[in-house]
Amino acid sequence: MLSKLIGGTTVSKAHRGKGIREEQNRGRGTCPVCKKSAVKVLYEQEIDGAKTKICKICKAAIKNKKAAEKASAPAEAAPAEESAE
Ligand SMILES: [Zn+2]
Repeated sequence: MLSKLIGGTTVSKAHRGKGIREEQNRGRGTCPVCKKSAVKVLYEQEIDGAKTKICKICKAAIKNKKAAEKASAPAEAAPAEESAE
């Protein structure tokens, strides 16, 4: 009973480690935005209405850009990337 509770609660991290092994090339590929190869393209982003997987850097860039465009709120410094845990 106890082991049931303890085991199986581990959720693989979506963007690193085990989780990405199931992805093609372990999640690596060429980012369609910055054309960099051998980067991890794990971040889904809608570009021109199509869901595309892009790299972390582009994801962050797009996020920041959107935030800047939206900027109805007073200029709050964009969050310095996602924390690396
Ligand atoms: Zn990129």
